[in-house]
Amino acid sequence: MDSIGLAHNPLSTPALSLVVPVFYEEECIEQFLLETKAVLEGMRIDWEIVFVDDGSQDRTAAIIKAAAASDSRLKLLEFSYNHGKNAALTAGIAHATGTYLLMMDPDLQDPPIEIPRFWAEIHKGYDLVFGVREEKKDAWLNKQFSAIFWWTLEKFTGLALPRGLAVMRIFSRRFADRFLQYREENRFLEGMFMHVGMKRSTLVVAQRERFAGVSKFNFRRKMKLAINAIFDFSELPLRLAVNFGLILTLLGVLGIVGIAVARIFFIEFQLGWPSMMVTLILGFGLQIFFTGIAAVYIGKIYKESKQRPLYSIKEKTNLGTW
Ligand code: UDP
Ligand code: MG
Repeated sequence: MDSIGLAHNPLSTPALSLVVPVFYEEECIEQFLLETKAVLEGMRIDWEIVFVDDGSQDRTAAIIKAAAASDSRLKLLEFSYNHGKNAALTAGIAHATGTYLLMMDPDLQDPPIEIPRFWAEIHKGYDLVFGVREEKKDAWLNKQFSAIFWWTLEKFTGLALPRGLAVMRIFSRRFADRFLQYREENRFLEGMFMHVGMKRSTLVVAQRERFAGVSKFNFRRKMKLAINAIFDFSELPLRLAVNFGLILTLLGVLGIVGIAVARIFFIEFQLGWPSMMVTLILGFGLQIFFTGIAAVYIGKIYKESKQRPLYSIKEKTNLGTW
């Protein structure tokens, strides 16, 4: 924990920390701050917002810094380069000092007006409250992709994730500390949250369109996340490979026996080249495919075994020194 966490200062521990990953969000930050600060002030609690800039090259960090200059409750952590949203969130959680932590995006898809409801819900004695979307405001194709993704994930991993997860979620200090003990590099956050366990609840949140800018997750990035999630949380592909190989081997043996029997007892026939080639190609193809699956795991093991730091921080604002 120490290697990634920041020493707590119990005197200034806020009741609520917002953890907000930002990546090329210069068009959203000001509106986000406007709406969020208004809501937080209305709650009459001590709060902080920990922004994590995931390597943007636009004015995102500059806008946050300008706001942070006159308000020490606004904090910023800047990555040296893009590490991905899950690393950004992890860093934010490691640096947030609040008794409760709430994760949200700055694009206002999950509206800040919902924060007090999360605050009320977690105080009913939960450690984690997941936001779920009443209806996702997204393109048709994206919705289908999400549906297939979550379905496959559940089948592969056995994780009973709530349907239509929103980004917004709140959790306790105890939960955050446990989460920070997870040091793996391939981080499927939702799966890890389920794995931490503890008492959880869900809250339906209204959805809006992205306030400005575009989604950073195109189809390719989403596919990558999905595949990583499956490899992170399941050994099913490996087991599939074993079973498949076994079945094919059995079929092969049966085939050989069948041909031998037919040859000896019944008919004269010549096996043609085409059928042989097809069999060879199929066999090799499957072989390579499943060796490939094993190779992916080996690659991941290699990556994990290096135990590199999860992120590299360029600069901190309002977050003390190193
Ligand atoms: N994000 C990030 N690093 C990335 C990509 C995205 O920190 O490499 C942040 C981004 O700034 C936003 C959040 O993750 O706050 C979700 O991204 P986005 O809204 O673009 O995705 P969508 O809501 O469309 O899934
Ligand atoms: Mg978004």
